[in-house]
Amino acid sequence: MAERLIKEILQAFKRTSFTGFLRELPVRVSGKDEFAGFLAQVDGIQQAGLTEMLKAGMREENAKALLLKISNYLIGKCQYQNRHEYLISSPYGLIVDPSNGCPLHCPGCLHNNLFRQKMSSDWPSGLLEPKIFQDYIEKYGPYSATILFYNWGEPLLNKHTPDFIRLAKGYLAETSLSSNLSTQFDAEALVLSGVDYMILSVDGATKETYEQYRQGGQFDLVVDNMRRLVAAKKKHNLLTPHLSWQFLMFEHNKHEIETVKRMADEIGVNEVRFAQPYDVIWDPELQPAKDIEAETYSVAAPGCGTDRIVPEISAFIPALFEERWVDRIVDVEPGLFTRRAGSTCKWLYTSLVMDARGRYLPCCYVPRKNSGFQYVFAENGAASGNDPYNSEYYRFGRKHFVWLSELRNEGGIAPVLAAGKSAPYCVACQDTVGKPLINEFHLRRYLQEFDNCKFLDDAVLDLITEW
Ligand code: SF4
Ligand code: SF4
Repeated sequence: MAERLIKEILQAFKRTSFTGFLRELPVRVSGKDEFAGFLAQVDGIQQAGLTEMLKAGMREENAKALLLKISNYLIGKCQYQNRHEYLISSPYGLIVDPSNGCPLHCPGCLHNNLFRQKMSSDWPSGLLEPKIFQDYIEKYGPYSATILFYNWGEPLLNKHTPDFIRLAKGYLAETSLSSNLSTQFDAEALVLSGVDYMILSVDGATKETYEQYRQGGQFDLVVDNMRRLVAAKKKHNLLTPHLSWQFLMFEHNKHEIETVKRMADEIGVNEVRFAQPYDVIWDPELQPAKDIEAETYSVAAPGCGTDRIVPEISAFIPALFEERWVDRIVDVEPGLFTRRAGSTCKWLYTSLVMDARGRYLPCCYVPRKNSGFQYVFAENGAASGNDPYNSEYYRFGRKHFVWLSELRNEGGIAPVLAAGKSAPYCVACQDTVGKPLINEFHLRRYLQEFDNCKFLDDAVLDLITEW
């Protein structure tokens, strides 16, 4: 696109407001030139937004971080709606396993032998190395909203997990952890990392009931760890992490529900979520308590303070804020921005999953051996020059859906991979209508939470988060 046109768009922005131009953003962009125009508008929104947010009283570094993320979500929405194969937007939902291992063997989990045998899972053990995480967070952190530090492993097995969270908080991401707590860890370091939310997986009020599902877990250690987390929050007068005890309801433990509520009151966690278990067909001995409704019990006086950890914002944020989005497509082949339509899978446009071995997966499916499909979309990390989110498997996956719903009817040619390479599992997946684990709901909640000046009204939030 001509530089003159970009200047005109930026000039026009000077005469209107952040919200006004947000409303003017087109939904359809046909081809690279129109996409460049869209990006120039986003650049203008970023600049107009900064002026207005500073006037509204937001700290400059926070305003830049928020606007960089909003720009990314607007571009992501546009690229999703136009079914682009190549993305300059980054995922807003990150899922990272600090550890691939777990000392427990819950039925239905890949750490259970029966599951491993039946599913032939390809899940090598390992702990996430700091260098791999650092490259990852530098690349994707500036644009992320939510980072889940769990998927298929016990995150507290990795002693670097609090450091990973602290780094993520420097990009103003909302962070969550899910743990079985049946391990030794530094509770104080974890609380001081700034982690926002923790799921504590404890399905029993006694050792006997607990161990029926959490096989290999140590109940006394788990309860002790809950107490240590609460004590660390109190010691530092911290409101976070929000401690959510998750209790999966089975026939063998449902009589303990009231006892668990009393224990939660006494220990000082924030809440107990009584939930239905996941698929337990793996173990016929386990019977879900189907006659009981899921509920969340809020503890009236949780053990916590009032402060929050204020993170030090990464120096990358102001530098990235100065880069123009429109410049990021200058050298990209125009054909990659052809507008297409049809059904697709949102995971491919919103999320990125990385295991503790630095393998990039498009969603939460466990890779399988000898399946004939490719589950791992990139292995080369996010070190400079690498672009896992646009790996050949990612691009193939996005192209595949376009071909299925549109190009096939037009006589188009199905995408092909180099000889000897297996197609991504997406071609056989039945789950494309499923919502990504981190979805619009989380994005909206994140923006509301982060926008402490209440700059974004409901209508603007709709424009950003409704894809
Ligand atoms: S605690 Fe979680 S990761 Fe560990 S075996 Fe159980 S379900 Fe799997
Ligand atoms: S199509 Fe299926 S396998 Fe592919 S990313 Fe979506 S949910 Fe995962």
